[in-house]
Amino acid sequence: MSLRLIMVGPPGAGKGTQAVGLCERNEIVQVSTGDLFRAHAKANDELGQLAASYSAKGELVPDEVTNRMVDERLNEDDLVNGFLLDGYPRNVDQVKALDEMLDKRNISIDVVIELVVSDEEVVPRLLERAKIQGRSDDTEDVIRRRLDVYHETTRPIVDVYRERGLLRQVDGVGTVEEVARRIDEVISSL
Ligand code: AMP
Repeated sequence: MSLRLIMVGPPGAGKGTQAVGLCERNEIVQVSTGDLFRAHAKANDELGQLAASYSAKGELVPDEVTNRMVDERLNEDDLVNGFLLDGYPRNVDQVKALDEMLDKRNISIDVVIELVVSDEEVVPRLLERAKIQGRSDDTEDVIRRRLDVYHETTRPIVDVYRERGLLRQVDGVGTVEEVARRIDEVISSL
């Protein structure tokens, strides 16, 4: 059985961590736009330089660039069993772009999992992560900006998927294992 899902939630909610485990357990591939941008930035190629100029301020990379990158990624063979989108779509226009990408491939999203975590909870998590991982995009000002961008721009996609009946909310507060168990319950209920 193939499984195609979207994981959404504020920065610091634990999407990346949960995505890794969930993908392993379900033998699907994680597609993280943040990771894709960071890989390009590390390679210091054209896309990387462009992306870095936005992410360093906590802003989103322009849709045209992001959508093209995801569309190309969806062509790769490793995604045939399914995939988990982490960090995409990040606004309502990206939802429309994704709809087209899926339609032209005759596939669809099975479920959208929202990891629910409050701002008060994520700010210290992000500051800690910045220290450990040396993520230069995670200074306190940038973190606050990223949270604002999340509430203004990304959170509305949750309503779009709720209206489509695809949304499942999971409490993101707890240990990695506890949250993973909640996510697994959602997956086994599909
Ligand atoms: P993340 O690791 O998911 O928090 O992403 C890090 C940075 O990459 C973000 O702050 C954005 O600048 C950029 N980015 C990641 N995903 C997207 C997206 N779907 N649309 C636009 N920008 C993105």
